[in-house]
Amino acid sequence: MKLPDFLQFQPFNTLRSAMGAERLGAFEFFDPRLHLSATERERLAGGLTLNWSHLRCLHDYTLAYKNSRVLLWLEEPGQSWAAPNYHLAYCRVLQQLRRERPTQPLQISTELPPPDPWPWQVCPKCLQQLQFQGYDAARTRHREYSDRVMERFDIADFYAQYPLYPVTSKVLRALDSVG
Ligand SMILES: [Zn+2]
Repeated sequence: MKLPDFLQFQPFNTLRSAMGAERLGAFEFFDPRLHLSATERERLAGGLTLNWSHLRCLHDYTLAYKNSRVLLWLEEPGQSWAAPNYHLAYCRVLQQLRRERPTQPLQISTELPPPDPWPWQVCPKCLQQLQFQGYDAARTRHREYSDRVMERFDIADFYAQYPLYPVTSKVLRALDSVG
């Protein structure tokens, strides 16, 4: 089926000038390899089990599944590196885990993991990787400040700085998956 050329479609053009919209704006065609469908976004909010090859590390070190930033954690109680931290970034802990356990199943979501039984804590190495709000545990004289950033960490502040969705295709195409 051949679609009409809507750029030449007079009723739309009349409407566009009535709205004062000079520019056509940007739009992207849906690409299932890069874009989450509405159903996939809902499932992601509920939590998915994936592996490294599904994830991308963005230039700012945050993690993305298709065009959404994600949080990541592991469901293996008793493992020291799995201890009750969730991750925001491809931090030192995850880089090591990726090398040591390339087939490790990973829990990802846009929401925090459910308490188990206490709320999960943000991973300090992720704050370090992002230097979030000036967090730098390596600077001794800065230590108290960094501890406060960690204590007062609120996921809403993270998302304010690193918007969840959508990550543009231009950014995604420039990256390889983590795995
Ligand atoms: Zn981390």
